[in-house]
Amino acid sequence: MALTPDQQAEIAAARAVTAETARPTVPALEALLFHATPVLDHGFIRVIDYMGDDAAIVQAARVSYGRGTRRVSEDAGLIRYLMRHRHSTPFEMCEIKFHVKLPIFVARQWIRHRTANVNEYSARYSILDREFYIPAPAQLAAQSTVNRQGRGDVLEGEEAARVLHLLHDDATRAYDHYVDMLNENPDGTPRDPAKQGLARELARMNLTLNTYTQWYWKIDLHNLFHFLSLRADAHAQYEIRVYAEAMIEAVRAWVPIAAQAFEDYRLGAVTLSAQMLAVVQRMLAGEAVEQKASGLSAREWRELMAVLGR
Ligand SMILES: Cc1cc2nc3c(=O)[nH]c(=O)nc-3n(C[C@H](O)[C@H](O)[C@H](O)COP(=O)(O)OP(=O)(O)OC[C@H]3O[C@@H](n4cnc5c(N)ncnc54)[C@H](O)[C@@H]3O)c2cc1C
Repeated sequence: MALTPDQQAEIAAARAVTAETARPTVPALEALLFHATPVLDHGFIRVIDYMGDDAAIVQAARVSYGRGTRRVSEDAGLIRYLMRHRHSTPFEMCEIKFHVKLPIFVARQWIRHRTANVNEYSARYSILDREFYIPAPAQLAAQSTVNRQGRGDVLEGEEAARVLHLLHDDATRAYDHYVDMLNENPDGTPRDPAKQGLARELARMNLTLNTYTQWYWKIDLHNLFHFLSLRADAHAQYEIRVYAEAMIEAVRAWVPIAAQAFEDYRLGAVTLSAQMLAVVQRMLAGEAVEQKASGLSAREWRELMAVLGR
């Protein structure tokens, strides 16, 4: 992640301005505010703003006049109860806004989450930076043979080197042609004064999907937990998972009690179907259950055994 000196100065200036407020603030999140947490090779997340805290969840749940808090243990108990029983609206009272820099192919997965407010960097209006995601060697994996949506063993040697070369070469060439078609230098002057240059909204179609884009992304805590439960999960693609993991760190600083409840009752929890529960009950009663007589498909059986660590 290379923030320019100008960008760093803007962040420092934003951090230097403080204001008195009667609204609740969270010192641990204030300490993170505006700072860029690096993700992947050129990406980042930054918390830009937030509303509410753990107490706001309690306050909304109790529809109280004051801060709504009682003893910390009672508040934690209530938040954990709300999370356990999917009483979700009190979590919607908290909101957070991120600035995210991410490769376009990650953005395409991310944008499927419809409950956020998004404003993306305009490549009709501005020129995208010459920055491409190139996976670290440990992430350069083959197609999984058991999971069509997953990765297998890591590529090695000459094959890995060739793939890295192709990724870099194609992205660079496409970007060079993008700039060529725009006919524009970084300072806005034409590269060739005799040419008009293609419109930015058209030239961008030539870029590779590993080119970085940026957006502001605002979401309430309930829907953020939903996003994180899908994207911080082991089944999510690595390149979006690392963003989700960085966001969880921010959420821990912001609403530590709700974040713990989320990790306990959602992220670290499993859902068993009625048939799976019946199998577990039969096992607990001492019965040696086989897949064929379990009522589960072979795949469901494998998933259950993985959950049970058998
Ligand atoms: C591991 C993984 C693999 C995936 N593979 C694919 C794939 O192969 N192809 C593909 O197209 N997508 C794929 N997706 C995307 C997935 O299908 C969802 O689009 C994405 O995860 C967003 O989930 P969501 O709709 O629950 O989230 P959000 O859009 O954030 O919505 C949150 C919740 O709000 C409600 N909601 C929002 N909008 C509506 C609506 N219009 N109508 C009704 N309820 C609504 C729903 O309850 C929803 O769960 C994949 C996702 C994951 C995590």
